Amino acid sequence: MPELTKVVTLLDRWKRRLEENGSGCGLGSCSGPKSRWARIWRRRSGAFLQGVFYCQRQCMETALTAQLARLHAVAPPVRPSNRIPLGLLMVARGWLTYEQVVTALAAQQTARSGQIGEWFERLGFATEQQVTSALGLQWGCPVTFSLDTASIAAFGRIPLGILEAFQMLPLQFVAATNTIYIAFGQRVDHAALYAIEKLLDCRTQPCVAGRKIVADELIRMRQQPRPHELEFGPMHDFA
Ligand SMILES: [Zn+2]
Repeated sequence: MPELTKVVTLLDRWKRRLEENGSGCGLGSCSGPKSRWARIWRRRSGAFLQGVFYCQRQCMETALTAQLARLHAVAPPVRPSNRIPLGLLMVARGWLTYEQVVTALAAQQTARSGQIGEWFERLGFATEQQVTSALGLQWGCPVTFSLDTASIAAFGRIPLGILEAFQMLPLQFVAATNTIYIAFGQRVDHAALYAIEKLLDCRTQPCVAGRKIVADELIRMRQQPRPHELEFGPMHDFA
């Protein structure tokens, strides 16, 4: 008899825990099963989005589409201009003349593409190494001129599409401090670093690497199979 009491108590505790956790679906218009047992069973196949549980694929898709539409409607933030312009910094260092900066800016404006550092290189005014060093000074972070491709390949926790969008590479993970060192090829994006910290529950440290080195490594990575990544097609127009 004590055994039966024990089983009943355990079942009761389990039921209460499920109720406390809320075994329902996060979608108001959910068309999934309504009975508790069916929902508990379905819970095994559902998924979480931002800490909210969705009982089936359709519910997850509806919630995800609504979330993406919300983000799509938000105007992209204006990039802060609190950094010393790269050209000015390079003139101050004696790496460029004022005339070269003006020429490069005009070329960039005419082409309406490319970063200014890229134009300094393209016009033969500065080397990639000089531009990378200047970027390090501009963003106040260390500079690296070489990459350990083996350690980048080993760290597959950030989807490639995101790395490509921000032209960044995870250089190293230091378990002792739970920190990922991330190299940027163009501009250090603190919003991207913050998102990585939240998603992977870790700290990040930015550094600057050569634009070409980062771009070439990302192209190489794109050619490698990434069986654990699921990529969606181009963004739908939610308008
Ligand atoms: Zn549902």
